[in-house]
Amino acid sequence: MRYISTRGQAPALTFTEALLAGLAEDGGLYVPQTYPQLDRTAIAAFAGKPYAEVAEAVIAPFVGEAIPRAELRAMLAQAYAPFRHAAVAPLAQLGDNLFLMELFHGPTLAFKDVAMQLLGRLTNAALAARGLRATVVGATSGDTGAAAIEAFRGLDRVDVFILYPHGRVSNVQRRQMTTVPDANIHTIALEGSFDDAQSILKGLFRNAGFRKDVGLTGVNSINWARVVAQVVYYFTSAVALGAPHRNVSFTVPTGNFGDILAGYVAKQMGLPIERLVIATNENDILARTLETGRYEVRGVKPTQSPSMDIQVSSNFERLLFDASGRDAARVSAMMAALDQSRGFSIDERALQAIRADFDAFAVSEPQTREEIAETYRQDEYILDPHSAVGVHAARRALERRPATPMIVAGTAHPAKFPDAIKAATGVTPALPPHLAHIAAAPERFEILPNDPVAIEKFIRAKARAAQA
Ligand SMILES: *Cc1c(COP(=O)(O)O)cnc(C)c1O
Repeated sequence: MRYISTRGQAPALTFTEALLAGLAEDGGLYVPQTYPQLDRTAIAAFAGKPYAEVAEAVIAPFVGEAIPRAELRAMLAQAYAPFRHAAVAPLAQLGDNLFLMELFHGPTLAFKDVAMQLLGRLTNAALAARGLRATVVGATSGDTGAAAIEAFRGLDRVDVFILYPHGRVSNVQRRQMTTVPDANIHTIALEGSFDDAQSILKGLFRNAGFRKDVGLTGVNSINWARVVAQVVYYFTSAVALGAPHRNVSFTVPTGNFGDILAGYVAKQMGLPIERLVIATNENDILARTLETGRYEVRGVKPTQSPSMDIQVSSNFERLLFDASGRDAARVSAMMAALDQSRGFSIDERALQAIRADFDAFAVSEPQTREEIAETYRQDEYILDPHSAVGVHAARRALERRPATPMIVAGTAHPAKFPDAIKAATGVTPALPPHLAHIAAAPERFEILPNDPVAIEKFIRAKARAAQA
């Protein structure tokens, strides 16, 4: 299996090469040359199988020869062992034909663990095979940093540096990052905002000397390996509800379009998915795009579902590539227009192709609060604000097609967002017992000035790749 860039000007790579590269050198995203196919018999055989076993069957064709099968199997077993539910992604029923897929049973209580736990192990193995070390640097407003730290802690080939805005993340979020004792984890409290942290990060990635000296790598959601890991739970949940003998639909709370793209990939592989419903909060760029055919960036509004507060949905480029008949020149032109004028138009044929698979609904802040309150009143089930955006959109989609089971991606545990839950329901959700220890564990972090030079110096001094 080979991977090609959506912009057509970068070399084709193997799975592990694409994994280590992240972004293609022409600025595009890597996609598989073709989608592996699973026939009905293969899909039906997933029924009742352990999650890691289904994961192996779904992921192996994407990996191809790049990793020996037994090694992949071992990594999958390790990646999903820390999940607190044996099914990894169990379903809860919220209504007639309405199900929530709980993706938050991983170590940091958000769905990013599902992909990140595998990404850490894949990256470490790829580096070990090449005799290399790497340095992960990330900026976080909360969730991604914790998931990356949990996934890479203790790995011998990788040092991790996570920058977060000092004093501007919640206590739970900070403690999830700072109570990890492993020596390869470095948490930096930046004396600045999240935007400052991101701008320092971008500067480090542009600094060719630094990039080479420390073996700089990212963990953001455009990495193809993260998308592939997310394809698995579309299969397990659909099969649990009767696929491939029955169609199902999915609704996904969407930010960077990584999660729902994985659903699209599952459909390309042969899973009978009827509709893929994009749920956005008030940052509704994707809902507007499906409606009008014009992708237009506006300012970001802070909401109760911060992990979906985005301006640009990076992974949407992969869908545009397919919808445009895999014409890299057309994708490059759209992306150039996005850079220059913060928007582009999708031609009629591509728009029809997208609408053939996807619907989109934007959910307001009051609707999100009301959904949390109403679901709690009716089912005594506490939705986190991101999942609530999904459930609200799913109810609207179900009105159109009530006969097909709808599965909503439940992307975070409510205990991560206690203030929003308290405001909607009057109750404060408790942290699960396995996280209770972070309240008292010693914290370890470095407070550094909002100064790119100081950050670079700190990372160079600590990164093992720089000492080699
Ligand atoms: C990242 C995230 C999302 C959005 O997922 P994308 O893949 O970026 O679309 C939704 N909910 C939560 C809790 C997240 O952390």
